[in-house]
Amino acid sequence: MPRPIRARIHLDAVRHNYRHAKTLAPGARALAVVKANAYGHGAVAVARALAEEADGFAVAYAEEGLELRESGIRAPILLLDGVFSPEEMTILDRAALTPVIHSRPQLDWLLAARPERPLDCWLKMDSGMHRMGFAPEDFAAAYADLADCPHVRSLVLMSHFARADEPDHDYTEQQMRVFAQATAAMRAPRSLSNSAAVLAWPRAHGDWTRPGIMLYGASPLGDEHRSADMLRPAMTLESALISVRDLDRGEPVGYGGRFVCARPTRVGVAAVGYADGYPRHAPDGTPVAVGGHMTRIVGRVSMDLVTLDLTGIENVAIGDPVELWGGQVSANAVAESSGTIAYQLFTNINRRVPLVYEDG
Ligand SMILES: *Cc1c(COP(=O)(O)O)cnc(C)c1O
Repeated sequence: MPRPIRARIHLDAVRHNYRHAKTLAPGARALAVVKANAYGHGAVAVARALAEEADGFAVAYAEEGLELRESGIRAPILLLDGVFSPEEMTILDRAALTPVIHSRPQLDWLLAARPERPLDCWLKMDSGMHRMGFAPEDFAAAYADLADCPHVRSLVLMSHFARADEPDHDYTEQQMRVFAQATAAMRAPRSLSNSAAVLAWPRAHGDWTRPGIMLYGASPLGDEHRSADMLRPAMTLESALISVRDLDRGEPVGYGGRFVCARPTRVGVAAVGYADGYPRHAPDGTPVAVGGHMTRIVGRVSMDLVTLDLTGIENVAIGDPVELWGGQVSANAVAESSGTIAYQLFTNINRRVPLVYEDG
């Protein structure tokens, strides 16, 4: 028997979520964001599951794009960080990858390149996130350089939101205004929306959306937002009980004795720990499901093990399934309890956790 942990990846859920993103922004094409190994779900498998219908894919950097090309993906592939050196320009050409140009050096490398075929490019503006992109006042000059460049075949204008997951905050409106003003005279498609903007900011949809986390079934707006009901979790992280014991009132559990039984308590151990990607900071009370019953983490998370409260669950036994997150336990709830976000839970899944694909 292998160690019972696995991450079941529901490819039909990814397809459902992609279609939902398209339905919400019916006038736009959608790049499925599969950077960081498709947020831990396996970039090749996810891209193949979407290959028939996705308008394109987005990854962070060239090697991630090459992996998709080598696995037979033909759709456009955008590199969200662009390239890191002029030498990398040749990869774009060879693998037909589309760079984001977000800085003056990147723009100069592109202008100086001599690709065999003209390139598609996305030009990024810093409309207020203040992380990457050309300042609004420098954008027209960068645009003109690309528009005049004989080896640039097409151009998309893009920006990224800092606070789209806060539907009541006006910062997203402000970013939209800055972007609209600085691009008013330019004739090119536009792209602004991450998942949160696809879900909450219809006016930002533009010509291309860039949904990421929503493809994997976690709403960036939280489980209380109506959008959460329409998304299907794409990952079930599950393991099994490997130990069960009954403790008396006053007995401590695990490292540091963080949890102390307030009453006679049945404690189970599941084969999953922080070295698998389960958050070490999960406090007592973090939700978990055992054999279909909701319960909680008790005691500090160890490298390979977690301890759970089994008190009151009937007929519980070694071997029973434990769901860390998935259809019963919301990844957002585990993340919130642990002071992080579902993005980090998914991307932290370690190589030692087998990904098991299911479709339909
Ligand atoms: C990662 C990323 C996205 C996707 O964001 P989600 O919040 O996961 O939908 C979109 N655009 C850019 C530039 C990104 O880096």
